[in-house]
Amino acid sequence: MGRTAVVVGGGIGGLASGVALARRGWDVTVVERATSLDPVGAGIAVAPNAVRALDALGVGHATRDLAALQGEVGLRRPDGRWLLRSQAEDSASLFGDRTLLLHRAQLVGLLADALPAGSLRLGTSAVVTDPGTTSRPARVALSGPSGAADLDADLVVAADGIGSATRTRWWASAPAPVPGGSTAWRFVAPPVPGLVGSETWGRGIVVGVAPLADGRVYSYVSVADAAGIPADLGELRARLADWHDPIPALLASVDDGAVLRHELRRLPDAPASLAAGRVALVGDAAHAMLPNIGQGGCQALEDAVVLGVRVGPEDDVAAALQRWSAERRPRVRQVMRMSARVAGPTLWTSTAAVAARDAGMRALGRWTATLGARALQPVLSWHPPEP
Ligand SMILES: Cc1cc2nc3c(=O)[nH]c(=O)nc-3n(C[C@H](O)[C@H](O)[C@H](O)COP(=O)(O)OP(=O)(O)OC[C@H]3O[C@@H](n4cnc5c(N)ncnc54)[C@H](O)[C@@H]3O)c2cc1C
Repeated sequence: MGRTAVVVGGGIGGLASGVALARRGWDVTVVERATSLDPVGAGIAVAPNAVRALDALGVGHATRDLAALQGEVGLRRPDGRWLLRSQAEDSASLFGDRTLLLHRAQLVGLLADALPAGSLRLGTSAVVTDPGTTSRPARVALSGPSGAADLDADLVVAADGIGSATRTRWWASAPAPVPGGSTAWRFVAPPVPGLVGSETWGRGIVVGVAPLADGRVYSYVSVADAAGIPADLGELRARLADWHDPIPALLASVDDGAVLRHELRRLPDAPASLAAGRVALVGDAAHAMLPNIGQGGCQALEDAVVLGVRVGPEDDVAAALQRWSAERRPRVRQVMRMSARVAGPTLWTSTAAVAARDAGMRALGRWTATLGARALQPVLSWHPPEP
């Protein structure tokens, strides 16, 4: 048997870490406390940097052509007027790849299928009871359908999400999650012929609509606390009743039970190191951010790919993890800061501020797109390191 890696959490970050480490030769076990991996009702945008991460994990080819965002996309006002338009294909020339739009179940399924057979344990909770040192393995307590057991591991990946119990226990001085200032609803609606992908910015409300590969529509709505959070879906529908087509119809087409609702939270900063002993903190556990630039999952994919390149079964794991952290931490902090900056104007509720924001974007026209692209360039142009 090779050296063992235990991954805590079967979200995007955990599954991708399991795939990356298995490809590097680790004997991997991925532990997920939920009894199934089915994420309900939402899509996910996979930006060019993460498309290349999927390639490095050997699953990019399965989605590249199928799910690429195509045609016109842009920013609109609630009355439908465009603030900004561009072609989705521009992304390929600017950032080397197009953005993919997948159903979450599709992405999770691809990653899970790429794991070695039998390496995923569902319905199993894990607690990291000892992070280990250079000379001592880490220890993880598992409890699941086959009972309780303690497992020694040469490497542990804690991909247990924003509420990470591993972070709370072993990163005592790490910042705790804080409210993001808004609530988000997400759902997948039936197809709308001729749908144009867009994000519409109102006063403290943002609505996104985007076609999935199978024609269905992924939609999200975020409402700032300052705009007043609707008590239920009926109230949300009423608030958006006079927004441009097809927003009211999309909201009317879904059952209440098929809509996800979350109060958004974020970590104010990443911990001082993403590694402790033989434990790596990956994905939202390390750097949960607001979804405004759609990079939370993308950064989790990057974490995993770099981990697989930098930490091999033959290495001094604790030392290799510190080097991995030194490489990843400045990058994820940059993306966290950027997502917080972009979120700011979407939370504005004052009529004057919103009018000035919209007028500014319209006046700058294509320049807004160019400036936005320039700001995003360092994020979206990332390439996996060479093995
Ligand atoms: C509204 C919204 C829209 C978003 N849109 C995008 C987007 O378009 N693009 C993008 O890249 N990102 C997006 N994100 C962010 C993205 O969803 C997250 O960054 C990503 O899912 C984080 O994955 P993760 O694996 O780190 O954590 P999670 O998905 O939270 O997974 C953690 C897993 O660990 C499991 N777990 C926890 N504790 C234990 C334990 N003790 N034992 C076993 N298992 C455990 C949990 O059950 C869970 O399955 C969005 C987020 C939101 C809220």
